[in-house]
Amino acid sequence: LSFEVKDRAAAGRIGRLETRHGTVTTPTLLPVINPNLPTVPPADMKRLFGAEMVITNSYILRKSDALRERALREGVHKTIGWDGPVMTDSGTFQSYFYKKPIEVSPLEIVEFQKKIGVDVGTILDVFTTPEKTREEAVAELDETMRRAKEAVAAKNGMMLAATVQGGVHVDVREQAARAIGALDVDVVPIGGVVPLMEQARYADLARVILASKRHLPSGKPVHLFGAGHPLVFPLAAALGCDLFDSASYAKFAKDGRMILPNGTRSLDEVEELGCICPECDRWKNAAELRRAAPAERESALARHNLHVSFGEIRRIRQAIRDGALWELVEERAAQNPALLDALVALRGENEVTWLERLEPTSGARAFQYRGAHSMHRPGIRRLHNRLVERWRPRSKTCIVLPERPKPYAEGYAAYLDAFMRTGHDFVVDTPMGPIPLELERLYPVAQSVFPETLDADARLVREAYSARFFHHFDGCDVLPADLAEYEALAPELCSLTPDAFEQRRMASLADYQYGPGAAAGLLAGQVTFKRSPGTGGVRNVFADGVHVASLRARDGLLSLRIEGARRLVAALPSPRARIRLDDEPASFVRDGKNVMAKFVVAADSQLRPGDDAAVVDSKDAVVGVGRCQLSGWEMPQFQRGIGAKNTEHAKDD
Ligand SMILES: [Zn+2]
Repeated sequence: LSFEVKDRAAAGRIGRLETRHGTVTTPTLLPVINPNLPTVPPADMKRLFGAEMVITNSYILRKSDALRERALREGVHKTIGWDGPVMTDSGTFQSYFYKKPIEVSPLEIVEFQKKIGVDVGTILDVFTTPEKTREEAVAELDETMRRAKEAVAAKNGMMLAATVQGGVHVDVREQAARAIGALDVDVVPIGGVVPLMEQARYADLARVILASKRHLPSGKPVHLFGAGHPLVFPLAAALGCDLFDSASYAKFAKDGRMILPNGTRSLDEVEELGCICPECDRWKNAAELRRAAPAERESALARHNLHVSFGEIRRIRQAIRDGALWELVEERAAQNPALLDALVALRGENEVTWLERLEPTSGARAFQYRGAHSMHRPGIRRLHNRLVERWRPRSKTCIVLPERPKPYAEGYAAYLDAFMRTGHDFVVDTPMGPIPLELERLYPVAQSVFPETLDADARLVREAYSARFFHHFDGCDVLPADLAEYEALAPELCSLTPDAFEQRRMASLADYQYGPGAAAGLLAGQVTFKRSPGTGGVRNVFADGVHVASLRARDGLLSLRIEGARRLVAALPSPRARIRLDDEPASFVRDGKNVMAKFVVAADSQLRPGDDAAVVDSKDAVVGVGRCQLSGWEMPQFQRGIGAKNTEHAKDD
């Protein structure tokens, strides 16, 4: 397998797919090249639009005598005029479109793709349409699986794509994904979705993608077959689709239609081009483009369509690097009601639970509210669940502080000593709901931007969480704060317990990050701090004089030092807080090398991208600290790439 993940946000990822004709950065769009009449020359695809890989149709190549002879003689790359990676489709779509089987056997078409030297060939699967009953979908899946197994046996050196079908039946999709995922295939397309996109059934599309992704190994790149409109790219990428293909740019151009990030407009119905791409820039207005010769107009529209499509791909990649992919998805959904329906389909308990299992612990940028879906993001669900399940109150009385400018603890700095001495718990009333004052710097609490007035949906989420959170306390002991009371106390208590608040912060953080028992293990003994000379903020955390952890300014989370990792391993049963390796790869980590995913024997399934974990050998001895690039549960599913970056190693300590 030749796919690795370099960065991630939501369930989306920046990946590297290696082929014999070069490496591709995903998510990406594969423009469809029509070997008979390319609307845009393949050479321009790379130069003007940044295409890294193209897709063409092996069935069409094989059908024409001239093309077949040339492809067999010179190979597919020369035939279509593209020297980068080439994927081919197999005729599945043609048999669906013309409603009759194609006149070539499934095995023959795989053999043909091999002979013409494609980089990624595709099986001839059965296109199960949304109208098919469950029984029909199962019968068609049986046939697709028979062909997939036959193709795997014949693939030799060619990378093979085997498609997940199953119609709109979630359980059949799940069954298909498990069966395909167990085969030796290199790319997994999700097929049969073109009718859903044509009918703007995006909620069904989201369900189909989720059902498939949940049961596919994380380490395989997923291609959303036939997804050519940028409208669906952000949502599909956020659900973990890596590859898209577009014939739409050419088809829409032929029909005189302009693709836009939020929909499609006919050239006939607009006065202004309203687009800043280099192609539109060449024309004074829509009327001038309408008057152009038909071939020139079609070419201009196709180029515009490609600019818009690739622009959206680049926006998605940047959003992943920024940790802001949900923001982009919500922005697009605000422009298209059918996409809003898809977001609503992602709010179910099962859906959010799966999405949370991939959600990184923090992002490079602040959490930005975008609308009614924002409070449904999996990162908020995690925050709420962990505060209900992992956070331990120290008393039965909770004092609710009004929200102040962030960081909250600074707003209350004058009272912190007094607060600590009462022995009560103090929480801040935030847009995300009640947050213990000591956890206010945690991502995304401190790093968030909300409007003054929350929408009704966000208020419902907040209220449901508040009710669960306040179960920590006896109902009658949740009290609003009377700050004057603490103001009166402050002078004589000032600075008597300068570290008490920070000690409470570290204990709450340890349990929040690693679960019950973590604070007791990590922070046993006398806890002291090294503070930043400039800001006075805590940087390093010591337990009995040993540096066990540091506080990350960026996201307010603890990062582990090697002694901290040892303490966690001693306190928590395996596999909690751990990534376990065999002894030989463990020795590389001891020397400072990263944790390669393929060497991971087991890992704590609760670890998320961004978490620090103890890296241990077969005897549970700590050899290093790894910052997770992948979630713990998915590490063993990758054959390539880094599972966790080495931040500390045992050799030097
Ligand atoms: Zn344009």
